Amino acid sequence: MSDVHGVRIHVKGIVQGVGFRPFVYALAQELSITGWVRNTSAGVDIELDGSGDRLESFIKALSDRAPPLARIDTISSEKIPPKGFPEFSILRSEAQEGEFQPISPDVSICMDCARELYDPEDRRFRYPFINCTNCGPRFTIIKDIPYDRPKTTMAPFSLCSDCSAEYKNPLDRRFHAQPVACPVCGPKIWYELGGEKVSEAEDALQAARRDIAFGDLVAVKGLGGFHLVCDATNKAAVEELRKRKLRVDKAFAVMMPDIETIEQHCYVSDEERSLISSHERPIVILQRRERSTIALEVAPGQDTLGVMLPYTPLHILLLDPEDGFPQALVMTSGNMSEEPIASDNQEARERLNPLVDAFLMHDRDIETRCDDSVNRIFDHEPTQLRRSRGYAPNPILLAWEGLPTLAAGTELKNTFCLTRDRYAFVSHHIGDLENFETLQAFEDGIAHFEKLFKVTPELIAYDLHPNYMATRYALERSEREGIRAIGIQHHHAHIVACMAEHGIDRSKTVAGIAFDGAGYGDDGAIWGGEFLVSNYSSYARAYHLKYVPLPGGDQAVKEPWRMAVSWLNDLGIDHEEIPQIQKKVGEERIRIVQRQVEIGLNAPLTSSVGRLFDAVASLVGIRQMVNYEAQAAIELEAIVDPDEECIYPFEVSGKIIDPSPMIRSIIEDIHRAVPVSIIAARFHNSIASMLLDICLDMRERFGTSTVVLSGGVWQNMVLLAKTVSVLRASGLEVLLHRKVPSNDGGVSLGQAVIAQSIAD
Ligand code: ZN
Ligand code: ZN
Ligand code: FE
Repeated sequence: MSDVHGVRIHVKGIVQGVGFRPFVYALAQELSITGWVRNTSAGVDIELDGSGDRLESFIKALSDRAPPLARIDTISSEKIPPKGFPEFSILRSEAQEGEFQPISPDVSICMDCARELYDPEDRRFRYPFINCTNCGPRFTIIKDIPYDRPKTTMAPFSLCSDCSAEYKNPLDRRFHAQPVACPVCGPKIWYELGGEKVSEAEDALQAARRDIAFGDLVAVKGLGGFHLVCDATNKAAVEELRKRKLRVDKAFAVMMPDIETIEQHCYVSDEERSLISSHERPIVILQRRERSTIALEVAPGQDTLGVMLPYTPLHILLLDPEDGFPQALVMTSGNMSEEPIASDNQEARERLNPLVDAFLMHDRDIETRCDDSVNRIFDHEPTQLRRSRGYAPNPILLAWEGLPTLAAGTELKNTFCLTRDRYAFVSHHIGDLENFETLQAFEDGIAHFEKLFKVTPELIAYDLHPNYMATRYALERSEREGIRAIGIQHHHAHIVACMAEHGIDRSKTVAGIAFDGAGYGDDGAIWGGEFLVSNYSSYARAYHLKYVPLPGGDQAVKEPWRMAVSWLNDLGIDHEEIPQIQKKVGEERIRIVQRQVEIGLNAPLTSSVGRLFDAVASLVGIRQMVNYEAQAAIELEAIVDPDEECIYPFEVSGKIIDPSPMIRSIIEDIHRAVPVSIIAARFHNSIASMLLDICLDMRERFGTSTVVLSGGVWQNMVLLAKTVSVLRASGLEVLLHRKVPSNDGGVSLGQAVIAQSIAD
């Protein structure tokens, strides 16, 4: 034993609450190395005595054999004199001033726990809160760091002797699993009717199942909030849920017990199967099968379904396949339209009581509410539509280190973003900042993240729109705390969000194509059809869609016919040529809007591609009014004839792309009674082809051979597929969003990175 050395190791990344210390302990035993391991606020510290060879193998195994949920960002080590440790031990966690380390998102139930859940011999048989170091709640129960039980909402549950023994045994799967619990000592479920507890434990579960099977609406408390639940195959129940939730047409998510059941109702590719079964367990948008028995009212006017697997033990028990029990349940956020998801028991009783017949409750508090994430597969890879439970607060690793920055995000689908070192912590989905509750969730969320990740912002980034609540918050805070604030153009932020998630080089300039619903332009107009020559700190507007009036502002978003009238007016075409609008809307309202357009009263100018889709959807008679954002465009996309290849023309003069010839051709096609599915296809083809022409021109003029696609319009999969295929065929490199959404949920990341780049 002459060659005993000492080493001190520091590991950074997601290494707490993921079974990292037991893994280190077992590794030390295996290699006969002595020393200790300890969680700190900055990660995991290890000190070891051992031979040079063994220490080397140890360090190599740390990253090679790390537990599945760990994400190691860095391992640093330094030689120190050997300390003569007699054994290997796990020391108490230590908080360090100012230090931080990433926190694991919530993790769906693991295979081992799922097996024990159904093992009658196991002491956690059918226990709805079974978990271990490889699974269970994390982000939603954490109040502060380091991640230890007293700093979670599990603090009030003191461990029984059996759980305590597992918790203390380094060789047990539940060693230091902070949410560890059992029927003796842990959280409990109960069933409530009219504010009264009517049953507990297994009886409560069976009562909920009985009522759901009967057609009732039940609020079920989950991981990040309450779900409103009903039988997805029961048309009347789904209709009743829509009525009570004031949600007219927007699709509901569905949970099914297993992948086999999902395959009966939807087409599932290999990539989709692994995404659905991943431990993040997002809602995945799938193509619905013709023969599916899911009520059409679940996703009216759409040929897709948003589907997820059970991700907590309670869900597994709730969906247990059985004759007479529904194959699929609607599981939609427990809120009224627009409000944030309910998370607190008393709050849920007050807010959800008018919506449901009963409550399946539990007594583990939710510290941070977190909606289900929504993903889909595009071009064999996942892409985010809503990044929340299972993903947040996993940081996006940036290509360089900048000032600690707070980006406030946007008004709709808000997320905020805090950066520190090379980490960008993009928040969970906050929602639309249109009411007091969401605004509160926004402000609380920022305070929580600043505490958890020990960030003191030295920069604040905000959207240029003066009326966004997020902008007002940013400016007030900047004023109050004397922090430098930088206004960021909305579409530049969209493009940079996509650049940042791909970590592209700082010296690079790209063609950024921001196709969006709306964003405040630097000239005060409403942008959304933008071709930007962009890098991380600046942009030039190379081309944009022609401005037309947006009659009634936000009202035009809800009433696509207004944009049709605006375009008809611009082209000098009499609206009587499109009788379907006249019939649906009425002569008088059209006249008012025409007048509004002519005198420019409450009719700001817009270059939005989203609004162009609205105009076309209205002209072809798909929809004159919408019940949720982008409904007209979604329905236009859904009817596209995939075999049609024709393209309409467009014009360019100077920086302005004028789709007038396109709209004229559409009107001609309408008059020739060309089927709507053909017109819709030609319109999509035309946008893709126009985009290609402009990108080729930009490559020639600005040397931009990389095209970045961002903005809400890119959630249109038909348009995205056509565009990507023509761009790639012409040798352009195409970057798409993967880690954050292309819609406004991704904007905060772009804002933060631009502000850092400007301040650098
Ligand atoms: Zn587990
Ligand atoms: Zn216990
Ligand atoms: Fe946007």
